[in-house]
Amino acid sequence: MIRITDILDKTQSYLSQEEMEMIQKAYVFSASVHQGQVRLSGEPYLTHPMEVAGILADLKLDAPTILTGILHDTVEDTVATIEQIEEGFGKEVAFLVDGLTKISKITFGSQVEKQAENFRKMMLAMSSDIRILMVRLADRIHNMRTLEYQTPEKQRYIAKETLDLYAPLANRLGINWMKVELEDLAFRFLEYEAYNDLARRVTKKKEKRDQYTQEVKSIIKKEMEKAGLPGEVEGRAKHFFSIYQKMQEQNLNFDDVYDLTAFRIILDSDRERECYEALSMVHALWKPVPGRFKDYIAMPKANNYRSLHTTVIGPYGERVEIQIRTRVMHEWAEEGIAAHWRYKEKRADLGNDEEQIKKLRELLETQQELKNPREFMSNLKLALFPDEVYVFTPRGDVQAFPKGATPIDFAYSIHTDVGNQCIGAKVNRAIVPLKYELQNGDTVEIITQAGHHPSKDWLKFVVTSRAVAKIKNWVKIEEREKSVGLGRELLEKEFRKNHLKLNQIIKSDEMKKVYEEYSVASLDDLLALIGYGRVSAKRIVHQFLPETDKAGGGAAVAKVRTKGSEQSPVGISLTGIEDVMVRFAKCCNPIPGDEIVGYISRGRGIAVHTAMCPKARDMDSERLVDVEWSIKEKHTYPVDMRVVCRDKKGILAEVSAVISSLDTNISRAEINTDPDIEAVLDFRIDVNDLNQFNQIASAIKKLKDVVSVERVRKR
Ligand code: MN
Repeated sequence: MIRITDILDKTQSYLSQEEMEMIQKAYVFSASVHQGQVRLSGEPYLTHPMEVAGILADLKLDAPTILTGILHDTVEDTVATIEQIEEGFGKEVAFLVDGLTKISKITFGSQVEKQAENFRKMMLAMSSDIRILMVRLADRIHNMRTLEYQTPEKQRYIAKETLDLYAPLANRLGINWMKVELEDLAFRFLEYEAYNDLARRVTKKKEKRDQYTQEVKSIIKKEMEKAGLPGEVEGRAKHFFSIYQKMQEQNLNFDDVYDLTAFRIILDSDRERECYEALSMVHALWKPVPGRFKDYIAMPKANNYRSLHTTVIGPYGERVEIQIRTRVMHEWAEEGIAAHWRYKEKRADLGNDEEQIKKLRELLETQQELKNPREFMSNLKLALFPDEVYVFTPRGDVQAFPKGATPIDFAYSIHTDVGNQCIGAKVNRAIVPLKYELQNGDTVEIITQAGHHPSKDWLKFVVTSRAVAKIKNWVKIEEREKSVGLGRELLEKEFRKNHLKLNQIIKSDEMKKVYEEYSVASLDDLLALIGYGRVSAKRIVHQFLPETDKAGGGAAVAKVRTKGSEQSPVGISLTGIEDVMVRFAKCCNPIPGDEIVGYISRGRGIAVHTAMCPKARDMDSERLVDVEWSIKEKHTYPVDMRVVCRDKKGILAEVSAVISSLDTNISRAEINTDPDIEAVLDFRIDVNDLNQFNQIASAIKKLKDVVSVERVRKR
């Protein structure tokens, strides 16, 4: 148990002698009025206010705050009165204790209206002075640490309130260690089994991880020395609740959560510049993962958190999360408003630290009347979680989403089927587009239609990982269905050609052998392989042909194969499908750089058209698939180009010279002279991509007698 001398030791460095004496006096008072009371743990009650005061002293908060910590439960739980507090410790402390007494009387109902009213009362009491909030948070920390002595019902209730209100408040105030501890403690009581399971798994790997942590730390440290950047490196295990959240949100198993350990570089220097220097040092050491760099120094978080974040590929090919900050930034990241407030008197330049609280207070004061409790709740949550939006279901339940979320995200949060079959949405009763960005306080209603399917386009605007995962999953299934259909067409055609009927053969023993040979379990699996282009239909049919036909058939297969490999276009990839039979459409002859679409043609694999191709635009959209260029090695593509110029001797030579000077091969040239003194030169040239074509075209355009240069799309 913490003793009064421990608290005095903690405060000695920054409080005056008189203030220290006052603390001793408060201790004596508190001890006398709590005399005989015990906590559920069996300890004397006094341990609680003393622990709370100890937390406040660690944060180096001022004397009235620490006094309030020692006295916070006296008026609520003992015979002491607020007048006695005022008499003994002054108006300020009495005001703070009174605020805390009020809060402790507030309980939350389940109704939105009642909950809102009580939330407001509590927030009002806490925000009238930030110190009330600080004591309340310290109080909650100690109560959570000793929650095991409560009944299971109380444990759940208090843990839920902690997760819903106090952990976010701590986060809002930027006090990271409190947020983390409150979340982990609440998690332990709310999801007992999940917590234990996680704790067990984390400990199991502890030794190996510690060794790894040491190794990474020393590599970074060495680099820092080389770069002349003094400071320290921390490697810490992520807290359980954040691992759990990640597993839940992204639907991961424990083994798939790669970054259990996060590293932190804390620089001795106060200069921001050194943070960026350390960042480039890290990026030179290990390859950064694209899209994971975040600059919270240039753009601090709403709670004033500042740091650089990056993820790199570490020494074993694993992902490593690294934060970089100065010592001052670090102190603020851990203690937030407490550090802010502590420095306030010493350093005037630190800005308006209580801005957040002021905003909160204004919000509460302008809503005295509380005409619309729902609006109040969403405004309050907005003030607590600035990166989220709060919307209502038609039944009035509040739902939180990341900023930028759309009705589709909302739909998937209700149920996978609601998401999959979503065809429209109403916000505040008006129809909105599916990519509408949800706003605070919106009431959202989803319109579904049985049998409707999600669209791949949704992936462009949904923001929740749940929605992304569900849509991708559906797309994968859909693409498999398309391949099965394509495979069936190819196979049936091949059987027909050889005067065989697929339906008759399906159930034969021969077919079972085929399944075995390709390690598939069903006809659909086999058809999918054919559709994906991994197995040729001819080869399957071949196995069902009489011996005499086989020789010829075999030759045909060989022929088709060579032909196939010649024709198989280089540099096309399909989202979600591999190794498909792909060919370029003759009508528009796409080259890398062109926007392209794929079309599942009947029996002939996938044809790639340019997105602009008039033929592609008229096609059955059900059969269109996404294709992308993926250029691994250079390859040339034929392009037809028409150059119109004034007829002049030698122009062909001039144009040809320009083309060859750009390292481009001409495979065909044709000249037609017009009676109107215009010459038309048709070329077929081999280019790597659209870029190269454009370069050639613009070089030719610069020639004096050239009128126009264009790409010919139809032949
Ligand atoms: Mn208390």
